[in-house]
Amino acid sequence: LVAAVLCTHVYSWLKLAARSIFCKIIAGQIPSMKLYEDDEVLAFLDIGPIAKRHALVIPKYHAAKLHELPDEHLGRLLPVAKRLALASGADEYNILQNNGRGAHQQVDHVHFHMIPKTSPKEGLIIEWPAT
Ligand code: IMP
Repeated sequence: LVAAVLCTHVYSWLKLAARSIFCKIIAGQIPSMKLYEDDEVLAFLDIGPIAKRHALVIPKYHAAKLHELPDEHLGRLLPVAKRLALASGADEYNILQNNGRGAHQQVDHVHFHMIPKTSPKEGLIIEWPAT
């Protein structure tokens, strides 16, 4: 029994060690400025914003790259990114998604950037479902 419990702990530890920094944000082990959360998706402010209110939208399911993410976990990412863009009040914005170092991906957990280009307003917290 002791061996089984130990194995389970070691296995959990290895799984934890293998996860991305964004998995740690999802687990609450690293703080973030959360903008939206549900059972599938988390959105939070980028720690190194390239524009005011630069936000990230991530699936809670861990996949490093978009093509590794099962379709069933793709569902709400873009709708949430769209809601964030609307909530930012920016007239112009970029939605970006990078895959691989050569494509400027730094964090190996699928994420969509929402980068306002014009006059973002203060609030970014979004309501779901959209009213
Ligand atoms: P990428 O280059 O598309 O992988 O973008 C990764 C983004 O994650 C960058 O814009 C970073 O500033 C951002 N980032 C990295 N670590 C954290 C964090 O702990 N909190 C919030 N954003 C982060």
